[in-house]
Amino acid sequence: MTVFSELVLASHNPGKLKELQALLGDAVRIRSVGEFSAVEPEETGLSFIENAILKARNAARLSGLPALADDSGLAVDALGGAPGIYSARYADGQGDAANNAKLLQALQGVPDAQRGAQFVCALALVRHADDPLPILCEGLWQGRILHQAQGAQGFGYDPLFWVPERNCSSAELAPAQKNLLSHRARAMQLLRQRLGLA
Ligand code: IMP
Repeated sequence: MTVFSELVLASHNPGKLKELQALLGDAVRIRSVGEFSAVEPEETGLSFIENAILKARNAARLSGLPALADDSGLAVDALGGAPGIYSARYADGQGDAANNAKLLQALQGVPDAQRGAQFVCALALVRHADDPLPILCEGLWQGRILHQAQGAQGFGYDPLFWVPERNCSSAELAPAQKNLLSHRARAMQLLRQRLGLA
């Protein structure tokens, strides 16, 4: 796989750009799609990977550069994969605490054995806007949903996500520990391999 000298990231989040730049090293300069447009595309896909592809194509179209996009969230088995691609706005945009409260409500009375869930991170890299063969990497992090919030680190659904391999919630993991195990770490590792960087 060719390693590009420049990539555009389909995100306006400087933290994400920094994380990716560190991961990919100096060989690839990562630019933000924000340099080209402030408008974000509508995420009309039904899956993480569809939305990642859609965002990557949009960024490539705007920039004329190869583009990388990610889409992530939480998929709960007992809820048919919800909140899924709607994870960020599960409680209609009221934020993390409301999302977590809604999730606990949806799982009320569901026993531990049926509270399996995974964090998902989908990455899509297109060489150009109409690339028929995007590079697709999906990282899954398996766990289960607790009955109440636990831990103060992280963000989003971390306080409700039990990490069996560490016997704690993901909000009780130090950031460096989470970054070794998480769905994002797994997807990024696959991407490094696909780009010949690992
Ligand atoms: P984004 O695609 O990175 O913006 O994430 C979408 C949503 O998924 C976030 O707003 C969170 O609700 C949830 N999410 C994704 N990754 C994590 C994580 O590592 N911990 C907790 N929640 C997450």
